[in-house]
Amino acid sequence: MRNANSATDFTYAQSVTIIYNHMPKRNSLNQMRIIDFRSDTVTLPTDQMRDAMASAEVGDDVMGEDPTVNQLEGMAAEIFNKESALLLPSGTMGNLVAILSQCQRGDEFIVGNWSHIFRAEAAGFSVLGGVAVQPLLNAPRGMINSHQLEQAIHPNDPHYPITTLLALENTNVYCGGTILTCEDIKALAEVTKSYGIRIHLDGSRIFNAAVALDVKVSDLVKDVDTVNFCLSKGLSAPLGSILCGTHETIQRARRWRKMLGGGMRQAGVFAAAGIVAMETMVDRLAIDHINARKFAIGLSTIPGIDIDPGKFPTNIMFPKILSRSAKSLADSIELKGIKVRVVSDNMWRIVTHSGICETDIDYALDVIRTIFDDQVDS
Ligand SMILES: *Cc1c(COP(=O)(O)O)cnc(C)c1O
Repeated sequence: MRNANSATDFTYAQSVTIIYNHMPKRNSLNQMRIIDFRSDTVTLPTDQMRDAMASAEVGDDVMGEDPTVNQLEGMAAEIFNKESALLLPSGTMGNLVAILSQCQRGDEFIVGNWSHIFRAEAAGFSVLGGVAVQPLLNAPRGMINSHQLEQAIHPNDPHYPITTLLALENTNVYCGGTILTCEDIKALAEVTKSYGIRIHLDGSRIFNAAVALDVKVSDLVKDVDTVNFCLSKGLSAPLGSILCGTHETIQRARRWRKMLGGGMRQAGVFAAAGIVAMETMVDRLAIDHINARKFAIGLSTIPGIDIDPGKFPTNIMFPKILSRSAKSLADSIELKGIKVRVVSDNMWRIVTHSGICETDIDYALDVIRTIFDDQVDS
């Protein structure tokens, strides 16, 4: 695994080649190229993934007979150094199944208030599992204060739900792609272990954290009981998430997956893309981090935009738009082929990924700078 600095091992030409090799094929030469910074979920499968999908050996995975799914799950268990792994259609289902497999009805889990599980998964854990949630302040970097954590754990008293799980997120999307280190997680695990509480890690972008820290993912997850990661974000597979944990937990997760309708038959067709994703798309995440850093530094020099590049260590950033509405500025740049996500009246979200190369960053900065310059002139 490379760290952000050694990513200069990739020459610019190589990064462009990696990207253009799997750009969508255009119908017409003069169609405007769309540079889509809204999310790394917009990434497209590479040609190598499509080839692997076309020739994948498949079987009925609900019966455990899809060799490609079994290979992918085995690979994930090995890389994460957990006993077992389970392929799921989405990250949301992976997190849900992880919670349902480790909490009983009436139990409670603790989670950061700026976590995807708390904010953006429709509270499936309470709707479907009768599991309560206790959010704690995520500050900063998506970390949770270990003293606050200890205070939040309920004593065994019939007034309270039983605290059984802590859910962490690495990298943390709403905090700006921020990273928890091995030491951060260990500090929290020391508290949870002493109370017999498990940890689930929403590691949708765990490989971004590992690449940025230049550590192995297995080191980053050694203090957690379960971890879920996405094949469909920076790793650019068309879909799929994988939950890793002990045999016993994954056995329960398999039952919940079936109950939720997530048991899939010839899933090897997309698992094949997942294998290619894990083999070819991890190290190049460093390029996304370099491009994000370049974008953030560029934006910070534009009067009218407020961003501290140091706050965004991976591929996600939240620039503040001063002096005009974030929506109207986004509409203006969309006319030039650049898409960003407007998250509030004065804020954008920008995400770099395998569909974006260094020249796209230069172009986007030019477009944004020109709009602000024109505004000053007029
Ligand atoms: C995307 C994401 C999820 C959910 O994954 P889906 O595949 O979109 O359901 C969960 N957690 C985080 C941090 C994410 O970014």
